[in-house]
Amino acid sequence: MKDLANLGKFQDPHMTAKGEARAKVSLTHPETLWFNTGTLCNIACANCYIESSPTNDALEYMTADEVSGYLDQLEDRNWNVREIGFTGGEPFMNPAFLDMVERSLKRGYEVLILTNAMAPMMRPKVKAGIVPLVETYGDKLTFRISLDHHAAAVHDTERGVGTFAKTLSGVDWLSSIGARLAVAGRIEMAESEAEARAGYAALYATHGWDIDAQNPGMTVLFPEMDAQVEVPEITTACWDILNKHPDAVMCSSSRMVVKRKGAGKPAVLACTLLPYDSQFEMGETLEQAEADVSLNHPHCAKFCVLGGASCSA
Ligand code: SF4
Ligand code: SF4
Repeated sequence: MKDLANLGKFQDPHMTAKGEARAKVSLTHPETLWFNTGTLCNIACANCYIESSPTNDALEYMTADEVSGYLDQLEDRNWNVREIGFTGGEPFMNPAFLDMVERSLKRGYEVLILTNAMAPMMRPKVKAGIVPLVETYGDKLTFRISLDHHAAAVHDTERGVGTFAKTLSGVDWLSSIGARLAVAGRIEMAESEAEARAGYAALYATHGWDIDAQNPGMTVLFPEMDAQVEVPEITTACWDILNKHPDAVMCSSSRMVVKRKGAGKPAVLACTLLPYDSQFEMGETLEQAEADVSLNHPHCAKFCVLGGASCSA
């Protein structure tokens, strides 16, 4: 969709529309290397930021050997990341997914899986593969389940009728095998963060799930965002004006590997938020991905730097 609200802005990677130096972020403390396992998903959510669906294969399935190649590079380049993150699409759609998870855990990394915990994860063969990983690696392996809201009606509006109940069954099963759980949800326009956390806490208590609703790392809540809202460009002066440090922004601590359809090889992107903007593709290797990132997209301002604040520079 054309971003009419920001016409004329976010054109030059080095300079804003007003001619000021655009802010850049350096990879100062790598913490997480993300892999997008492929954009195919068993459902098609109304607001999926990566436009996943049962037919969108714009990002192809990654192979386990491709993942291993990047794990080798992590060691060669001494990134010292703590965590390997897997996202999609729905990662459990990828036939090689459990192999990738095991290879990452074997090398000593923590692994974070973003999943909807629905049918792809609940196939008997997949469940049989998850159980020994949970038994062997325990809290090193976290399943972060997308549960858009603590109430079925709101969740199902976004994800389709009956999806809330199916996801709850998946989380019940993960809980029953002792898997470490987290949740990613949204704060509805009509409710406060405190109300949203209270709603999630009640849901967890009803099901006996061991998830801390008050911990923003375990119950990650995203505010509703208007994609077409006008945002200012971020200049080098903004950091001081906003009293914010570039090290607080995701591209200072992570990168995401994707495999574009037809590309033949994976590529490394600046972050998980801009999978389709070629400006944020940094090259095939982690070495190339060590370059600075120019904050040349409305998302950089809206999601990462301003987060509700405003910068008058
Ligand atoms: S489950 Fe996740 S990846 Fe799949 S369509 Fe919904 S938001 Fe997108
Ligand atoms: S959206 Fe922009 S600022 Fe945010 S992590 Fe991605 S590249 Fe960095």
